[in-house]
Amino acid sequence: MNPYDFVPLDTEHPPERRKPVWHNVLAPNDAHLDKLYSGYLHLYIKAETPLFIYDAASSMQNPDYAGQHLRNRWDEYIIPGTSIKGLLRTVVETLCSGCMTVFHMPREYTQNPIPLGFAYCQSNTLLCIACRLFGMMQANQRNAQVFLGKVNIGDAVVYEDSLRFYDPIYTTVLDGPKPRHRAFYLDSQGHYIAGRKYYFHHAGKPLTENRLLETRNRPGEYRNQHIEPLDVGTEFLARIDFTNLEADEFAALLFAIALQPNMRHKIGYGKPIGLGSVQLGVTKLQLVYYANRYKEFRTGRGLSPHYKDEALYTLLDSQMTSIAHRLMQPGIALSYYLR
Ligand SMILES: [Zn+2]
Repeated sequence: MNPYDFVPLDTEHPPERRKPVWHNVLAPNDAHLDKLYSGYLHLYIKAETPLFIYDAASSMQNPDYAGQHLRNRWDEYIIPGTSIKGLLRTVVETLCSGCMTVFHMPREYTQNPIPLGFAYCQSNTLLCIACRLFGMMQANQRNAQVFLGKVNIGDAVVYEDSLRFYDPIYTTVLDGPKPRHRAFYLDSQGHYIAGRKYYFHHAGKPLTENRLLETRNRPGEYRNQHIEPLDVGTEFLARIDFTNLEADEFAALLFAIALQPNMRHKIGYGKPIGLGSVQLGVTKLQLVYYANRYKEFRTGRGLSPHYKDEALYTLLDSQMTSIAHRLMQPGIALSYYLR
């Protein structure tokens, strides 16, 4: 069985684009009557399968020494903010009908396979919800328009007391001859992209070999990796700052973090072999209200019911309910695919 499946594009509802609200006033004004959300939250991350983030400074193909999970300059194990941003962005693109930013046209395609309306945003005054939240993709052309986004995500740093290591593994061969466009699949006519790729969460042990497998006729070159993942239960904390989010954007951000109880995010290296399933949650949320009034919601680490703060959950629920009508169908689809 494939370790992944595809979540179909909702071509009935192509990305809805509008000008991002981006201004410095804290109160609603004539142009924007609705409330805007600014503040920060603490993002709690817990590994539910072994987890490994690649570090360019640590070889994954040394027979004598397993590759190490990424650390920052203070030697703390981290999940980079850029990886978390990519993860949340993909969920928002999928569930809230964002544009197709990550698609790179394979050479063998003779025509543009992106369905009408799903091409990535080109104008910084007409942006889909994913681009309003996380920024436009940086185009290579000169004079290309930019929008930096309204969400900033810091690196998630490990809780030292939760840090556990999984016994080093030799992965199965991950880099088979699969073309990049397999991140998408084409419709029955083979013309258009019909869905996005998601990996199943699998609770068993990761798929492994018992050694590094040498490439045929190339001594010293290997087809798989030797790594030491972090173990199940390792916990991290990241801070996410957000500025001037409209209600649907705020809701989409919270929903992308929380998903539904039976859904899991996947991050880092080795998703096809069962690495990288993580639980995400919000443990603290501080909103900046008008006239310098602040409101804080806190649940504490671990999201245990003991610390559960009704105010935070009520807020999260109400925000999610506000966009539920848009999320319902694809949400069901994604929960099925991420089971
Ligand atoms: Zn976009």
